[in-house]
Amino acid sequence: MTSPPLPPRFGGGRYQEPPPLPRLFFDPASLERPLAELAGVSRQAAVRLAAFGLENVGDLIGHFPRRYADFRERKLIRDLKVGEEATVRGCVERVRAERTARRRVAVVRAVLRDESGVVEAVWFNQRYLVKVLHDGTCVSVRGTFRRQGGFASFAVKSHEILEDEDVGVHTEGIVPVYPASEQVSARLLRDLVRAVRPVMRRLPDPLPAALRGREDLPTRADAVLAVHLPRDLEEAGVAHARLVLEELLLMQVGLQLHKAEQQRRVGATPLPAPGDAARTFVDGLPFALTVHQEQAIGEIEADLGADAPMRRLLQGDVGSGKTVVALYCLVRAAEAGHQGALIAPTETLALQHAVTAAALVGPLVPVEVLTASLSAKERRAALERIASGAAQLVIGTHAVLQEDVAFSDLSVLVVDEQHRFGVEQRDALVRRAERGGRAPHVLHMTATPIPRTLALTVYGDLDVTTIAGSPAGRQEVVTWLVDEAQRDGGYAFVREEIAKGGQVYVVCPAIDESEAISAATAVAEAERLQDGPLRDTRVAVVHGQLKSAARDAVMRAFQAGDVDVLVATSLIEVGIDVSRATVMIIEGAEHFGLAQLHQLRGRVGRGSAKSYCLLFSRSETEAARERLEALLETTDGFALAERDLELRGEGQVMGARQAGLPDLKLARLARDREALLRARGLAAEILAADPGLRSAANAPLRVAVEDAFGHELAWLLKA
Ligand code: ADP
Ligand code: MG
Repeated sequence: MTSPPLPPRFGGGRYQEPPPLPRLFFDPASLERPLAELAGVSRQAAVRLAAFGLENVGDLIGHFPRRYADFRERKLIRDLKVGEEATVRGCVERVRAERTARRRVAVVRAVLRDESGVVEAVWFNQRYLVKVLHDGTCVSVRGTFRRQGGFASFAVKSHEILEDEDVGVHTEGIVPVYPASEQVSARLLRDLVRAVRPVMRRLPDPLPAALRGREDLPTRADAVLAVHLPRDLEEAGVAHARLVLEELLLMQVGLQLHKAEQQRRVGATPLPAPGDAARTFVDGLPFALTVHQEQAIGEIEADLGADAPMRRLLQGDVGSGKTVVALYCLVRAAEAGHQGALIAPTETLALQHAVTAAALVGPLVPVEVLTASLSAKERRAALERIASGAAQLVIGTHAVLQEDVAFSDLSVLVVDEQHRFGVEQRDALVRRAERGGRAPHVLHMTATPIPRTLALTVYGDLDVTTIAGSPAGRQEVVTWLVDEAQRDGGYAFVREEIAKGGQVYVVCPAIDESEAISAATAVAEAERLQDGPLRDTRVAVVHGQLKSAARDAVMRAFQAGDVDVLVATSLIEVGIDVSRATVMIIEGAEHFGLAQLHQLRGRVGRGSAKSYCLLFSRSETEAARERLEALLETTDGFALAERDLELRGEGQVMGARQAGLPDLKLARLARDREALLRARGLAAEILAADPGLRSAANAPLRVAVEDAFGHELAWLLKA
């Protein structure tokens, strides 16, 4: 991968070894120095800076500009044009303060003179300037030339007092615009950044010199300087790109180290080649595997035969057919004489998997179900069978691993719907399944399609297998955006669908944090429908406040077709499979995220009948519209996931902290995809040459990676 040529400061296109000047000594303590100690920072300013999150020099250096204002062009007063913003240099005369007649705003006026002419300069709300500006004070001013009531003046936005030789910081040149607040102005930040220039110049570089040379990258010190104090925009761009790459590289190195460490730490039992049971399972399916399912199985097979534990993510849209792949893995474990387990996040889902497994695998391997609804006695018996190895195929909730369940020989573990888990939680879960220095092969499954960029970060420690598309015969769900005026028409349509034998979901948003209020909303909606537009149908309601037995009873009734309309809070998001359901109504659709809407829509269209998704929304906001319209445009979960990332940014889609990853300060996944791929490649190269980052040249990189990840990975890296 090539990078754009470097501007002059960085060696003019080719990397040049820096001349052997006396080495600048970097004192790590210089980053810890409180801003209060800098000249010109008052106590109050220090307090305001701290409240803004900037306490020490390191914080300040890490507070990067959001963008740059290009004030390089300067105008003569004679050349000012009405309505145009410009920078002018001149000296002031006859400075005076007054108040505007009508609104009593303090106004400071002065005559501004340069070699081409004079103009009246006007400052608003800065009365103190009469004490600062004197006859003959030379200033650079940025503002707008305007004409009011036949009278021309120059309305000043910002100014600075300058001697002839000086170069302006706030009104001239490339001016960095910092994220600022009422209390902490961008102007203050610009001044402070200048004061810490000597520290920036000495910043050590986490990237090895050889890598920098090969990849044509400026040093960290140069890049940080150029981002804060660029001489031109090109320089700023190159510097920014280098810092983005660094950020992504540290993350990738951390993730890859973590993965390698995981695989080194414990071994796994390699499974022998597929035998009769695996073949019988596939041949006995009521359908032929799709190409994608076969490919997925192929990738998994390669892992199962290895003595390092599989760490794979199987992602595929709702209904893409992941379950069969998961069951295949379990059969493989059982036929080799070991145990396999499938765990799901909810009881409902676990039971559903158990039903599927009993139908498809039951004849080959008996299925052991471990959920909260077992009696104490049943549970004890189940645990005994699991401990003795008699139970070869276990299905349950995550509690299976959380409690003291001892497998005798667990060799394959499938974890369903893990997209809400971060690196750390994933580790913790899998670690509980380790025994005697052996770890099971683990397959994580998620129906939330993850954009590739996110997959490489949030799931960067896993290999990723994707099942694209869905088994033949599935229908695209027709999606409508329904506004209030069309609501009755919507219900008329729903009644027709029910008359034809279809079933309907109605999902109410959890607007309030409280489960109780969401539940009440769903109950009220069910009553409203039962008494009103859907009075001739059988309406039931399910929500998180119900006991799990009551909830399961409602779900079973819906599954059996004894209920036409199931009103629910968003808890049906995950996993339920009712093929006769043909209509999904989403109330207050604007309150849901794109991924969630997509998930909900995926609950219908599971059978052969045409299915519909009705998005009821009262929202007129741009953002909500955009999100809902994305949903009308495509049913491709990956396209939607990418769109979601664009619309909301990775922070929202998946909080970095939550995922156990370093925060990204500069990188934006939707924008920096190429940099991410480059970083990933570089990380792999670095680790191939020096797997533990033990060489002296890589020591700074190792330290930076540990810093970036904080405690989450540091302990692992030190192991
Ligand atoms: P998900 O990926 O959401 O877990 P499932 O595994 O539940 O999807 O599959 C959705 C539906 O498609 C199920 O009813 C399943 O039996 C069916 N299915 C799976 N694979 C195939 C296939 N190759 N051909 C036809 N139907 C399939
Ligand atoms: Mg599923």
